[in-house]
Formats: sequence, C-alpha cells, structure tokens
Amino acid sequence: MENKKISYLSNAVEFLEDEINNQDVEAFYRACITQLSKNERLEKPQLRNFYSGKEKSEKTYGNYMDKLIHLLEKFQEEIQSRNAELTLAKRPIIKTHVGGGSGNPTYYYIDFEDWETPPSFNQNAGLQKTETISHDIIYRTKTLKRTPWYLKLTAKLFARTKHRQFFLFFVLIFFIVAPVALGFLIQMLPLTYWTLLVLSYFVLFYPAWNIIKLATQKIALIEHIFQPVGAVCISKVKNVKDSDSFLDIEREILSVVVDATCPICFHKYNLKDSVQLESQSLFNRRIIGKCLNNPKEHRFTFDKDLMTGNPLNT
Ligand SMILES: [Zn+2]
Repeated sequence: MENKKISYLSNAVEFLEDEINNQDVEAFYRACITQLSKNERLEKPQLRNFYSGKEKSEKTYGNYMDKLIHLLEKFQEEIQSRNAELTLAKRPIIKTHVGGGSGNPTYYYIDFEDWETPPSFNQNAGLQKTETISHDIIYRTKTLKRTPWYLKLTAKLFARTKHRQFFLFFVLIFFIVAPVALGFLIQMLPLTYWTLLVLSYFVLFYPAWNIIKLATQKIALIEHIFQPVGAVCISKVKNVKDSDSFLDIEREILSVVVDATCPICFHKYNLKDSVQLESQSLFNRRIIGKCLNNPKEHRFTFDKDLMTGNPLNT
C-alpha cells in the first residue's frame, strides 16, 4: 500500500498536468508527494522548501495544496481509471490537519478513503497470463495536452441544457445561413473579402461539425494533424438534477486521449496499450477500439460511460 499510494498520487499529477498548467506548481506537487512518502506529515511552513519557482507567500503555497486536493477529488474517476493496475482497495487522498495557535502548524498527510464509485476496474485489472483471458477490455484516459480552442470555448457554454440549446441553434444557423449569405455576397463584395469569408467558413466548418456531433452523439473524435491518435471529446454527465427529466442534465466536456491493452496481444506478446480509438470505417463513423497489432481482427466496442469494451464481431 505504501508505494502504491505514491504511484497513485504521482500518476494523478501526471494526469492533471493540463489542469495544473504551470510547470513550477507541477514540480512543487511532485516534491511534496515525495516528501509525504518519506515523512508522515508535511508542515505548512515547510512548503516553501519544495517550490523552485519565484518565491511566494505561505498562503499561496497553502492555496496550491488546496487546489491539488480539490483536483484529486474532482477527477477521481479519471485518475482511478489511469491507476487500475495498482489495484488499490481504497483511494489515497491528501488531508489537511488545521493547526491551532501556540505554534502548532497546519500539516498535510496521506489518508485513505472509500471509493465513491466502487472500482470495477480494480477487480479486472492486472490481467493474469495463467488464467483464461477475459476479453473485456478496460480503457484508460489521459487529458489532452492541447485542447482545441473550439472545445475550450464549447466547454464553457455546454454545461447547462438551456445554454446548450442556444449554442446549438447558432451552430445550425452557421451551417444553413452562412452558405446562402456567401452566395449573395459574391455580387456585393470585392473578391478578396469574399474569398476571406469563404476561407473562414471552411476553417470553422470542422469545429462546428464536431460540436454538432458532440451534442447529438455525446462523443466526437478529434482528428487533427497536431493531435495524438485516439483523442476524443466526451460530453460527460456531471449532475443529474431530476432523474425523470432526461433533458435537465448538467454536462461537462472532457478532451482526452484514450488507450487500452489488447487482451489477446497482451496474452501472446505481453504487448500493452496497443488499442486506440478510431472510426469503425470510412462509412461507419461509430467509434471503436482497434489494436495496432491487428486492426482488422482485434476490435472492441467503446463505452464512454463505463470506459470498457467487448470484442466486436462484425
Ligand atoms: Zn491485439
């Protein structure tokens, strides 16, 4: 359990890289975790020793720790899926012990908590070579280093149903009205301006198309030259307020890279992480997991809510 909790927290910081979005703070977290693995407690006045960037106030270091604790809580499911092979029975968390006056400093320590959602991953994780192969596969997620700009924008507008409806309305107008408007404008505008408008229409076409896919299918592949293969954007349920009304669901947009270990290739060659997400074919845009070693035969379904899949027969 001792080493595992440190691996769990280190992996968590790696996963949260994009959320932290500051190299100094990331290094600070790593140093704090190392310190916590050596000592049982990390006192607040000590925190300054672990920050290598420009010196900050003690309060700021405390705020950094609060932020880490918050992020570990917020992304616990994603972090858990990334740490399935650790088979932890409980979730490691960082806790704050608030010190009183008279020289008792506030300190941080690692504790364990029950999983909010019992990890179905953990029971299946760590495929045993000697046992019969379970063909079910478990997907893992990793946040995207560079989230496309239009998804960052959409994320803000996508949370509430009402905002979503308004936003989609405008995206649809873009598809229907813009081409018609461009047709009229060709007679009225000088060709240079018109060409610029047409170009911007085509630049915006793919983002708008992806947003519509995200709204209707709740998942879209991010196929871009600068993005890693298997990058997807998922419209994830954040909060169901009224279980009777399907429309009143709070959602959040998650841009992640997804991979998995192909059970067949792991069993035969000890090959890991060979499964990537792709469209099933040019004509069937269903998103499935394909094994790089055998993309025609080793194919798996992809369930974005369970982050698992089964072998695909067709
Ligand atoms: Zn395979």
